[in-house]
Amino acid sequence: MPMNPEIFAPPAADADAPINLIGMDRDDMAVVLAEMGEPRFRAEQLFKWVYGRGVSDFAQMTNIARPLQARLAEKFVIARPGIARDLASADGTHKWLLNLGDGNEVECVHIPESDRGTLCVSSQVGCTLNCRFCHTGTQRLVRNLGPTEIVGQIMLARDHLGEWPTAERRTIYERELSNIVMMGMGEPLYNFENVAKALKIVMDDAGIAISRRRITLSTAGVVPLIERCGKELGVNLAVSLHAVRDELRDEIVPINRKYPIAELLEACRNYPGLKNSRRITFEYVMLRDVNDTDADARELVRIIAGIPAKVNLIPFNPWPGAPYDRSSDERIEAFAEIVRNAGYPSPVRTPRGEDIMAACGQLKSDSERPRRAAAE
Ligand code: SAH
Repeated sequence: MPMNPEIFAPPAADADAPINLIGMDRDDMAVVLAEMGEPRFRAEQLFKWVYGRGVSDFAQMTNIARPLQARLAEKFVIARPGIARDLASADGTHKWLLNLGDGNEVECVHIPESDRGTLCVSSQVGCTLNCRFCHTGTQRLVRNLGPTEIVGQIMLARDHLGEWPTAERRTIYERELSNIVMMGMGEPLYNFENVAKALKIVMDDAGIAISRRRITLSTAGVVPLIERCGKELGVNLAVSLHAVRDELRDEIVPINRKYPIAELLEACRNYPGLKNSRRITFEYVMLRDVNDTDADARELVRIIAGIPAKVNLIPFNPWPGAPYDRSSDERIEAFAEIVRNAGYPSPVRTPRGEDIMAACGQLKSDSERPRRAAAE
């Protein structure tokens, strides 16, 4: 397996097709508006309509004159990804299979909880990492999502939840979509530029306005980009650790062969903005008889010593043909107890949406690389 397999970029837009405003930041909007002879302040107006109010019809943009509305509608669209399937779990979790328009699909999951609602967002179609316990890793095709498709997932969820501010109701205090985790399909740090652009749009106060404190980016350990993630985005960092010895981590999280545990933990120690009130989350999937002994737990607290951290224990979520089993509840509790006694909060993540295959690591689509045209 090559360590840096080819990752496909999102397809270039058709030159004649209308351009999607979703995914554009203020500067992009200012450029296209300037080409139409419009002043810079129009970009601010457009940005607010698109991301602050969620409108998709130019006729609703009441501070923009009718003739300009019509000219905008000729050139642009404000389009969410298509929905291929929409599945609701008995526990309130909701999964959308999104149709990206080029034959590819990704999944996006909304998880309501009593004090928050979290959207689990995908960053790639498939994933190059091949973590042994993850269903997405068994999917062959990989392509990066563009900012349009990343921001589009959040806008689609906000549409569905009916949470756009309106003229009458400018602020929504209790949100069903209050938090975002970049924990869906793909490795966000292997698509950093697009993820960063999308998250900057999402965090902007004039728009979707979800604060960096409510956004968590999860990585399997792309060490060279961890610092940039903290500096440029300032979001919370989650690290998929899953093993405390290189020998085992090499096997179950193969990116470890490139960036071993010591280097990964060093990057965590230096994560910009790290303090007790802003901890790193270490994710640890509980695999029966693989990584779940008391000795593993003791080694875990030894190697993360000094890092402001919490340890999320994730009971393994099985998928058809998976080579692992979930650790027993007693084993998970015993492991958690050791971690807690060392002073680290160690919540056990309740599997959500298992009945619709929406739980961690179960996301997978049937996307396949399009066959090359016969003429090629
Ligand atoms: N590539 C990123 C984000 C996607 S995975 C990363 O690796 O962090 C999101 C989380 O789900 C990771 O911690 C991942 O290891 C975990 N996960 C993957 N498959 C799982 C499974 N079958 N059961 C439980 N957790 C799983």
